[in-house]
Amino acid sequence: MAEIYDILIVGGGPAGLTAATYARRAAKSVLILEKGAFGGQITWSPKVENFPGLLSVSGTELGDMLLAQAMEQGAEVELEEAVSLQKRDDGVFCTSSESGISYLSRTVILATGARPRRTNLPREEELIGNGIGFCAVCDGAFYKGRKVAVYGGGNSALQDALFLADLCSEVIVIHRRDSFRGETRLVEALKMRSNVRLLTGTTVTALEGDSELTGIRVSTAGKETLLPVDGLFIAIGHMPDNEAFRPLLQLDEAGYAASGEDCLTETAGLFVAGDCRTKTVRQVTTAAADGAVAALAACHYLDA
Ligand code: NAP
Repeated sequence: MAEIYDILIVGGGPAGLTAATYARRAAKSVLILEKGAFGGQITWSPKVENFPGLLSVSGTELGDMLLAQAMEQGAEVELEEAVSLQKRDDGVFCTSSESGISYLSRTVILATGARPRRTNLPREEELIGNGIGFCAVCDGAFYKGRKVAVYGGGNSALQDALFLADLCSEVIVIHRRDSFRGETRLVEALKMRSNVRLLTGTTVTALEGDSELTGIRVSTAGKETLLPVDGLFIAIGHMPDNEAFRPLLQLDEAGYAASGEDCLTETAGLFVAGDCRTKTVRQVTTAAADGAVAALAACHYLDA
C-alpha cells in the first residue's frame, strides 16, 4: 500500500523548504514535490543581502543551504510537478503528479510561489530563449560583451541590471514610471555604472527580429523609438500558479490563495505558504516565516 505522508509540501522554495525543516523537527514524515529547481525564485537573485544572519550570499547558495537543511532533517524530495489535488472522504489528500504518480498525505502545504509575469506583447513566447529571458543569473552569460535591456522597476529588475552590467557592453533599464519601485540603494549603484542607462517613463511596445530578438520598440511620452538590443530580460513582477488546486482553495482576483498570516485555508488540513498566498510583503524572509507557520499549523492539525 502507498505510504501516507504526514505532510506533503508542493514547492521547494524558501517557504516549502523551511516548512519541511520545521515539520521534520516535529518528527512528521515529509515529502516535498518540486517541479523545477529547489530554492525557487531566490535562485535567480545574484546577491541576497537582506536574509537575517547572512551578510551576503548568492540566491543559489541560499537555495542550496535551505535544501541541505531540510534533507539533513530527513525530508524526502521528488522532482515532480503536482497537477491536481483532491481530499478523499477519509480525509486523506491525494496529490497527482505530471508523471502520473499519486501521493497520499494527511496534510498538504502549498508553497508554489509565483512565475514571471509576461508582457503579452506579440511574439514574446516564441522569442523566449532567443533573446528574451526572465533570469539574468541563468542566461546572462549568453550576452557577454553584448547590448541588453532589462524591463521593470522592482528589485528583481534592478538586481538583474547590476548583474548584467558586469558582463554586457551596455544595459538599458526600462521602467514605465519615473520613480523606481525597487530599493534606492540599487538605483544609486546603477547610476554609478558607466554602461547603464536608465530609461524611465517608458514602455516596451514591440519586439523586433525573426528567429532571434534584434531590438525592441519603446514609447516615451508618446514618442516611439527603436532600440537595437541582443537581449531583453523581463522582470515585471510575478503571478501565482494555483489554478490546479482551485477546487480546494479560494483564490483572489489575481489568483493568489486566500489566507491570512496563519496560512490556513478553507479546507481543513490544507495550508498555504509564501508568495502563492494573499499577503502584502513578498520577500524571502516572509516566505521562510510562512513556511514555519504553515508547518507548525499542520503539526497542530495532525496532533489534535
Ligand atoms: P515588483 O517589485 O512587483 O516589481 C515589478 C515591476 O514591474 C514594477 O516596477 C512594475 O511597475 C513593473 N510592471 C508590472 N507590470 C508591468 C507591466 N505590465 N508592464 C510594465 N511594467 C510592469 O516585482 P519584482 O521586482 O519581481 O519583486 C517581487 C518581490 O520580490 C518584491 O517584493 C521584491 O522586493 C522582492 N525581491 C526581493 C529580493 C531580495 O530580497 N533579495 C530580490 C528580488 C526581489 P510599477 O512600479 O509601475 O508598478
